[in-house]
Amino acid sequence: MMSTVDNPMVYGGGTAIQILIKQGILFADNFVDLAGIPGLTEITADAAGLRAGPMVTARGMETDDRVRRVAPLASTAYRHVANPRVRNTASIGGNLAHGDYRLDPPPALLALDATVEATSVRGTRSLPVRQFFVDFQQTALAPDELVTAVRIPAQPTGSAYRFVKYSSLSANDWPCASVAVLIAGREVHIGLGALAPVPRYASFDATGMTDQAAVDAALEVIAPLLDPIPDVRGSVRYKRRLAQVIVEDAVRGAWKDLDNA
Ligand SMILES: Cc1cc2nc3c(=O)[nH]c(=O)nc-3n(C[C@H](O)[C@H](O)[C@H](O)COP(=O)(O)OP(=O)(O)OC[C@H]3O[C@@H](n4cnc5c(N)ncnc54)[C@H](O)[C@@H]3O)c2cc1C
Repeated sequence: MMSTVDNPMVYGGGTAIQILIKQGILFADNFVDLAGIPGLTEITADAAGLRAGPMVTARGMETDDRVRRVAPLASTAYRHVANPRVRNTASIGGNLAHGDYRLDPPPALLALDATVEATSVRGTRSLPVRQFFVDFQQTALAPDELVTAVRIPAQPTGSAYRFVKYSSLSANDWPCASVAVLIAGREVHIGLGALAPVPRYASFDATGMTDQAAVDAALEVIAPLLDPIPDVRGSVRYKRRLAQVIVEDAVRGAWKDLDNA
């Protein structure tokens, strides 16, 4: 006889689920704990980039030497998640599947053109992170799909990056706004967090530009993407202004590193 499991929910690190259940927002009769499945915490790296299993923790991405070497922007972004207690537990698969617009890693993964490996009984498909965040707390994952890996291309030699997070309440809090900038081969890639109902991405060609021209171009390309949600961390007006400040800061900082390379 075939057995069924009523209303199951995938359990990664549980840092998001537990809060949502306590708040009465999420309900599940059964949990499928991914911690019991072997092989989901592996990180592999080669010249092309990294592949990290879904149960690698944020802390793992922060501290792993291969991640630091191959994709330092990603490592830096994971270091900004909450506090060590949360980072030691939160999984990178759960972080993405949670789909919250304020999460810190997505702006970096957008700038780096990372890919999510999604698996179901139908097989495995690759979803570019740039197409992953569909709407407010909604991802491109089908209901029966699991995040089974995150692939991050290696940062090109001679590229420069910055991750800037501003928290208006306390240092360990969710961001009021965050931005990741990667400048590679004069192409400027920008990922924005907490500045719209979904993490957002923009890019432009900075060939022949001065640093000031690049800042101006960055502010121009992000302007139509800004659609902040007002909350306890800031009003719409405040977040729009903050976006300009942190994007300028990130582009200038990365540009300076290019000059010094
Ligand atoms: C106090 C606190 C402060 C925080 N501050 C920040 C912050 O500053 N910056 C930030 O970025 N984040 C912050 N977070 C959020 C934190 O990053 C997320 O809660 C965490 O990344 C979610 O990962 P998890 O493994 O715990 O997910 P879970 O809680 O286990 O799961 C979250 C969702 O993803 C689903 N899921 C889990 N794994 C998979 C998978 N492999 N495939 C498909 N679906 C899956 C679950 O079913 C659930 O719907 C904070 C959280 C807390 C509790």
